[in-house]
Amino acid sequence: MSSWFDTDVMYLKGVGEQRAKVLASELGISTLGDLLYYFPFRYIDRTRVHQIGELNSAESVAYIQLKVRILNFQKIGQGAKARLSALATDGTGRIELLWFKGIKWIEGRLEVGREYIVFGKPSFFRGEVSMIHPELENVGAQSSAFGSMQGVYRTSEKLSTLQLGSKGIYKLITTLWRSAEEHIIETLPKSIIEANGLMSLREALRNIHFPQSAALLAKAEYRLKFEELFAIQLDIVSRSAHRTARADGFAMPRVGDMFNRFYREKLPFELTDAQKRVIKEIRGDMVGGRQMNRLLQGDVGSGKTMVALTAMLIAADNGYQSCMMAPTEILARQHYATIKRMTEGLNIGVGILTGASKTAERRDALEGLANGTITILIGTHALLEDRVVFDNLGLVVIDEQHRFGVEQRSRMWTKNTRPPHILVMSATPIPRTLAMTLYGDLDVSVIDQLPPGRKPIKTVHMTEGHRLALFGFMHREIAKGRQVYVVYPLIHESESMDYRNLYEGYEAITDEFKPPQYCTAVVHGKMSNDEKEASMALFKNGGAHILVATSVIEVGVDVPNATVMVIESAERFGLSQLHQLRGRVGRGGEQSYCVLMSGDKLSADARKRLGAMVETCDGFELAELDMKLRGAGDINGTQQSGMAFDLKIADLVRDNQIIEHTRRIAQEILADDPYLQKSENRLLATIIKRFAKGAGEDFSMIS
Ligand code: ADP
Ligand code: MG
Repeated sequence: MSSWFDTDVMYLKGVGEQRAKVLASELGISTLGDLLYYFPFRYIDRTRVHQIGELNSAESVAYIQLKVRILNFQKIGQGAKARLSALATDGTGRIELLWFKGIKWIEGRLEVGREYIVFGKPSFFRGEVSMIHPELENVGAQSSAFGSMQGVYRTSEKLSTLQLGSKGIYKLITTLWRSAEEHIIETLPKSIIEANGLMSLREALRNIHFPQSAALLAKAEYRLKFEELFAIQLDIVSRSAHRTARADGFAMPRVGDMFNRFYREKLPFELTDAQKRVIKEIRGDMVGGRQMNRLLQGDVGSGKTMVALTAMLIAADNGYQSCMMAPTEILARQHYATIKRMTEGLNIGVGILTGASKTAERRDALEGLANGTITILIGTHALLEDRVVFDNLGLVVIDEQHRFGVEQRSRMWTKNTRPPHILVMSATPIPRTLAMTLYGDLDVSVIDQLPPGRKPIKTVHMTEGHRLALFGFMHREIAKGRQVYVVYPLIHESESMDYRNLYEGYEAITDEFKPPQYCTAVVHGKMSNDEKEASMALFKNGGAHILVATSVIEVGVDVPNATVMVIESAERFGLSQLHQLRGRVGRGGEQSYCVLMSGDKLSADARKRLGAMVETCDGFELAELDMKLRGAGDINGTQQSGMAFDLKIADLVRDNQIIEHTRRIAQEILADDPYLQKSENRLLATIIKRFAKGAGEDFSMIS
């Protein structure tokens, strides 16, 4: 777009240097274009004036408008604690208006006896209504030039103190709009606009900020979402097309001794049909010359480890090394033990390397890798270190991939002269459209079946009053020879408090389950690795009846004899975390249980989460609900791993139809013009640049 878009926002009338700095740091707005694409997150109807007498607390979440007369006002307190309190009425009731910041400025504007339009969120306390930091306008001063719906913009406290509350931003955009119009150039080819009945960019931008009607606003939103998602799909589809077009992967055509002997002699159970299918898909990638980039999705307990192992054996049969990276020490050790056991007698070197590896273990691993005596290396982030040098790395498996950052993962790509095959595994189910966008560059395999004989886990929700009943239940399960997990939340901000809860809980349990008859093990983040491992081992080999833990056990731990998962303060966990934790039980043939302990008072969202857990064990269903409750941007893993897109208006969950639609169009266009060189498609390169900056970066090292 034109240079107008790139002009520093500082030069806009009403901004200046100081505000520009804060706009950039708080909202990422540094140019006029950024500001123009900073959209309202909702709208309010400025023609409607509420009456104080009719307000009730149910409405307290909404912004409303009142027309009130000031009865009196006074400044209370000094310095940082100072506030300005005004009492106002509209004849139907009274309201207290409160300001903590910008007091002087408000004080200068208030006049007893005069009428104002105030705008803000009412709050209710003991029958009194108040409004904190309302916006204030003289009656009659409202602008109606842009229709009756006014945009509400997200802002921050810091910006509010610089008079850039929602209203202040609205004003800036009004100023901006006066000069913006002539610079807005259409970004979509005419044919696409016509075929999809889209609004022009200029009209869309006008209506998103200053809607002339609800219908036009809807059209504007659609157009802008379309453009944004279309750009991302164009980017993803072209990247994956370019990748498939190249044949630069290690070819692994042989199915040899390792794989066959493992399959015939070692496998302790029949693989599920789903496992067999995904193994075929993986093998299909590895035989050819195309480098594999595959996401293996499967609910907790679906048996992903076994699939990963078979892939690593195929690599071994073809003379390549593999490694498997897990997000935690405990999990890496567990994989190591499993794989070591499963490959015994196959004459294959298996090593481990973690941050906690002692000198000898570390030396064995590094030397073994270099001289080729280690064929499969299991580990944690430690595998990423530069001194970990492979002889001939052909396959990288990344377990619980959402736990790793973009950069961490892409570093594995460089551990051989050509990028190795990549298999990333995740138990966090992601709906198809989201996977398509987040991992559009990956092929996806899904294990949609659990090993036979698994009974659905029975889940109940209990509160403190049921504690004795819970203990009784634990006694009965332990008497049957089963084991119990008790998990406490551990959140950074409340760490010391959380540890206290854990210790107290531990005491209550050892009080009820007294040693030496009962043994209770503990695992938490403040223990050394050796201590953690000792506790886990004790629980794993059946030496401990109960494991009291923080959520460090969340991922991957496999103790089939454990049948009860008690989650304390369950309301503080997110839905996908709860589901992961529940997945620790129900791994053997016995009926398993999950007990969600919570306080009596729950927020509406917490109630929904716990209710959903009780109702279903289906990870995909829970993931969908989770996303509805939290929004796509917040989904487990997408944010932390840096794969979230900086979406301005679209939502990866709610707008899945637009995603599918724009993906089809992108495919058609790219099939015809892979490098967007035709004159009618040139514009499209600009929108890719504008909207898809973060897209696919994850795999840019290999494309
Ligand atoms: P996840 O997919 O959560 O990583 P795991 O690989 O840890 O699951 O497997 C869960 C448990 O199921 C393990 O104890 C594993 O040995 C067992 N398992 C895997 N595949 C099968 C199968 N086909 N039949 C029976 N048990 C299986
Ligand atoms: Mg696993």
